[in-house]
Amino acid sequence: MTQMSEGENRKSNSLLTEEMKMQLTKLLLTKPLFDEPIAFHTTIKVGGPADALVTIHRLDELLRLLSFSREHRLPLFVLGGGSNIIVRDGGIRGIVVRLNGEFTKVSFNGAVVRAGGGASLYRLVNMAADMGLSGLEPVVGVPGTVGGAIVSNAGTAVEFIGDRVLSVHLLGEDGTQIEVDGKAILFGYRYSNVLDFGKFILAATLELKPSSPGRVRKSVEKLLEHRRRTQPINMPSAGCIFKNPPNEHAGKLIDMAKLKGFRCGRAQVSEVHANFIINLGGATAREVIELIEIVRKAVYERFGVMLEYEVQIIGEE
Ligand SMILES: Cc1cc2nc3c(=O)[nH]c(=O)nc-3n(C[C@H](O)[C@H](O)[C@H](O)COP(=O)(O)OP(=O)(O)OC[C@H]3O[C@@H](n4cnc5c(N)ncnc54)[C@H](O)[C@@H]3O)c2cc1C
Repeated sequence: MTQMSEGENRKSNSLLTEEMKMQLTKLLLTKPLFDEPIAFHTTIKVGGPADALVTIHRLDELLRLLSFSREHRLPLFVLGGGSNIIVRDGGIRGIVVRLNGEFTKVSFNGAVVRAGGGASLYRLVNMAADMGLSGLEPVVGVPGTVGGAIVSNAGTAVEFIGDRVLSVHLLGEDGTQIEVDGKAILFGYRYSNVLDFGKFILAATLELKPSSPGRVRKSVEKLLEHRRRTQPINMPSAGCIFKNPPNEHAGKLIDMAKLKGFRCGRAQVSEVHANFIINLGGATAREVIELIEIVRKAVYERFGVMLEYEVQIIGEE
């Protein structure tokens, strides 16, 4: 008996039949990618294949996709910039959805900005700086999208994007839309309950503060310079792996446990910032996750602190 290769074996796990693939291709504006390695779409560059990766440009297209996924009972996963997720090597069953086109629009009305859920956070920060609007300092240099940032309430240890949110426009899997007042959403340190209101963040309205382009640009540059000095930004990573425990820094504890530079295969605890795991090239998700668990155990044994994940680990083994 010939053994199936890993790739063939995974393909046969797809929830999509050939007929469904044809239907899906017909209902979308751009061709879906089938059995697409998610490693190509995450900043840490690991992750097995998604049954289908689709890019959605318009609301009517997204509504058609929702009817299709409901009809065939296919799970949907919303992918932003892939900068806060680690996808296991078995990949993601069902349909992975990226928001593009009308969901990347950004428009200003005085100090109030409406940004699409798929808009790049870098672009939003730059546009606000050009307009002389401050308030996005906590997310300067944070990769990913506006939607992803609102889900995890991205920011520093003390200031977050949630502080600026006036409202969020969401779409439920049943096709209902809702504009949720920012005050109704619970935001905490790397936490929000925004997805209790819907599956897709289509857009968000943020209130910024009038300043001057020169002043905002200067503080953005300063924050980026600080990142360049303190984070391994030139290597593939998923940012900080763990949340900081109360009154502590996860990176400091990992450093004190002498784990800087420690490796599992091609995954390594960064020498620059111990709360980052970097992909030295060709790492698997299994190696990254094994390293995460080694770090967690070592910190617990040494300091009695059980570190909590900041990244989301998803997908199949
Ligand atoms: C080098 C580096 C530095 C980083 N620095 C920081 C930092 O300083 N502060 C910080 O907070 N984080 C930081 N991060 C982590 C990460 O960039 C943020 O968490 C970011 O906000 C994630 O956004 P994303 O679009 O990449 O989301 P993804 O990783 O794609 O997704 C994260 C979660 O959000 C959901 N999601 C994404 N978009 C939508 C949407 N439109 N609708 C519904 N759900 C959605 C996904 O389903 C998933 O559950 C850093 C990461 C890297 C690689």
